[in-house]
Amino acid sequence: MRLSELKPGETGVITKILGHGAFRKRVMEMGFVRCREVRVVLNAPLHDPVKYALMDYEVSLRRAEADLIEVDLLENWEASHVSADALTEEHDKEASRELRKDKIINVALIGNPNCGKTSLFNRVSGAHEHVGNYAGVTVGAKAGTLKHKGYRMNIVDLPGTYSLSAYSPEELYVMRYLREETPDVIINVVVASNLERNLYLTTGLIDMNRSMVIDLNMFDELKRSGVSLDYSNLGKMLGVPVVPTIAATGYGVDNLLDTVIEVYEMKNPDTRHIHVKMNPEIESAVNKLKDEFKNDLSVAHQFSPRFLAIKFLEKDPEIEDILKHNPNYEIWKQIRDDENERIHKELHEDVSSAIAAEKYGFIQGALKENMEGSVAKEEKSTKIIDAFVTNKLFGFPLFLIVMWLMFWATFQIGSYPMEWIERLVAWISGLVSKTMADGPFKDLLLDGIIGGVGGVIVFLPNILILYAFISFMEDSGYMARVAFIMDKLMHRMGLHGKSFIPLVMGFGCNVPAIMSTRIIESKSSRLITILINPFISCSARIPIYVLLVGAFFPDYGAWVFVSLYTLGIAIAVLTAKLMRKFWFKADETPFVMELPPYRMPTMKATIRNMWSKAEQYLRKMGGLILVASIIIWALSYFPHYETEDLPKEYVAATLAEMPADQTEGMSQSQIEKSMLTEYQQSNSILGKIGQFVEPVVRPMELGWKSCVSLIAGSAAKEVVVSTLGVLF
Ligand code: GDP
Ligand code: MG
Repeated sequence: MRLSELKPGETGVITKILGHGAFRKRVMEMGFVRCREVRVVLNAPLHDPVKYALMDYEVSLRRAEADLIEVDLLENWEASHVSADALTEEHDKEASRELRKDKIINVALIGNPNCGKTSLFNRVSGAHEHVGNYAGVTVGAKAGTLKHKGYRMNIVDLPGTYSLSAYSPEELYVMRYLREETPDVIINVVVASNLERNLYLTTGLIDMNRSMVIDLNMFDELKRSGVSLDYSNLGKMLGVPVVPTIAATGYGVDNLLDTVIEVYEMKNPDTRHIHVKMNPEIESAVNKLKDEFKNDLSVAHQFSPRFLAIKFLEKDPEIEDILKHNPNYEIWKQIRDDENERIHKELHEDVSSAIAAEKYGFIQGALKENMEGSVAKEEKSTKIIDAFVTNKLFGFPLFLIVMWLMFWATFQIGSYPMEWIERLVAWISGLVSKTMADGPFKDLLLDGIIGGVGGVIVFLPNILILYAFISFMEDSGYMARVAFIMDKLMHRMGLHGKSFIPLVMGFGCNVPAIMSTRIIESKSSRLITILINPFISCSARIPIYVLLVGAFFPDYGAWVFVSLYTLGIAIAVLTAKLMRKFWFKADETPFVMELPPYRMPTMKATIRNMWSKAEQYLRKMGGLILVASIIIWALSYFPHYETEDLPKEYVAATLAEMPADQTEGMSQSQIEKSMLTEYQQSNSILGKIGQFVEPVVRPMELGWKSCVSLIAGSAAKEVVVSTLGVLF
């Protein structure tokens, strides 16, 4: 039977993976391999995707994908366990590397998504990179440095990957990084409570034969679960020292850095090179290819020959690229194809699934010897929360409530501090106008700087609150559930549940949102998500909306506001549909998504996150917006006119045009002043520019002032508001 036919609560054992290519690869990496137990946990509200528990972890799969996995009901299946002595060792004689004289160590952090790499990175380097409780938060490499016991470490935080292959952008990124940068020591971060899956990546790194330390992170969760793990023995078996840490509190981090130095100096007693031994049929193929590569230095220096051989057998495209240009490529390809065929015949399954199954067998073996008790299937609290959050009835309303709460807090609660800042700005500008002598400098300060920057800085509280919500959703793990329950709807747009996260983040800022689209494996879905993201109203547009809504729709403000957001979303949806229809055709990428256990975000992380956003915003104020305001002011101030400069004909003509009810009650000097302002504005450089472009916007009945502000807005959205502030 197929996995899709299992009902919630039932457990099956995987007998075969159908399908091919990236899908097949990914599900196997997620742990869907032969002989593995899977239990159906629950259905998403719209019956798709389905949440499965396997290897103490939860993943979701679309029905169509579950259809490609063959299972037997547990009752019908006779267990045939993979034996633990797949574990064999082999000392690497070549490993003696001469001690280096310089004391700089290049360290790379590698691990599955969401295992705490960035938390560790922040802790050791004092950086403030973004952490979040879902896959794909770190989208490029972040570098930092630290000093430890006389060494300087250049440490790089890499995006999370499940394996070393070339199927997703992150994997490719990490592969290329390892190939081109060759870090001295790799810190392989693994989640203590989900070792089986995390160690899959480790087996790839072992194949690569690089200096390495395993960081057993989230040790607190392992301890709480009551499982006992002999990690030091595990390290001995793997030939890689294992150091337990809690990146969130800093526990064990010093020890980890000490071990990095030991490994670098080759003084660590646990370090040795082992082989993740596989079935003899596969081993003989690997060895055949390995000997070929070993003698060819042009390829052997990029990756270890064993790693190259395994990946070449798996037909990894990146490795194919490396080898393709070699004169011996045709010979190697012949060997590979022959061996593949032989293995297929002997083992009745294709090479990549055989290799994945063997590697999992190796890991199981290693864990069986060192781990006692199984990790609790799921933390109880996670189970209870998920029962509501991903529930058919409550899931959507709950999500809408959260969204509503987010916007309500942003605008309603945010309006109080906004008022305080407004008052402060008014007070400062009053002070300046009272105390300073008249002149261009006073005008610059009042109209240029305070008018421009002051008009935008009042939105700081709104933006902080919005970010507090977004970062809480990310850190707690709720964002991943949102992707889960939205999958079906997003599918109708031709997208993924995963596309939903960048779209929500887009409400904060489109830039990180677009960067976070890397979590989407399918290229076309990723592109569409990127292209529609600008339609999502980012926080920089809040000032503009508030201004226009306040000015033109004072009575229906809230409605218009909501409509602006909705309109953006509607256009995004429409665009996505059209693009899927006419531009990018069918998309068959799998939807495999982990559902990380809920974690209470620490106050510190949330505040740090908020603060880094505030800092960015303030920097923008002090930089771009300040400069833009001053430029706009200068363009509108020069050439400068005084009352005496007004041409007589202009005064006469304007006076004649002015309706009597407007001039009534105004003193002569007031009339003159307003005339001067108008003359100044339309004859300044800015006025001329605006009038030049005005014909373009005339059909919309916008004047030249709006025209100028639109032009200025191409630098940053907020500048529209500050420009209007200067001009009016
Ligand atoms: P990355 O994707 O590997 O960079 O992982 P992050 O650093 O973004 O962390 C993922 C989540 O795990 C965040 O919510 C962290 O707060 C949390 N976390 C990180 N380290 C620990 C730890 O040692 N213990 C616990 N309980 N949580 C942790
Ligand atoms: Mg990260």
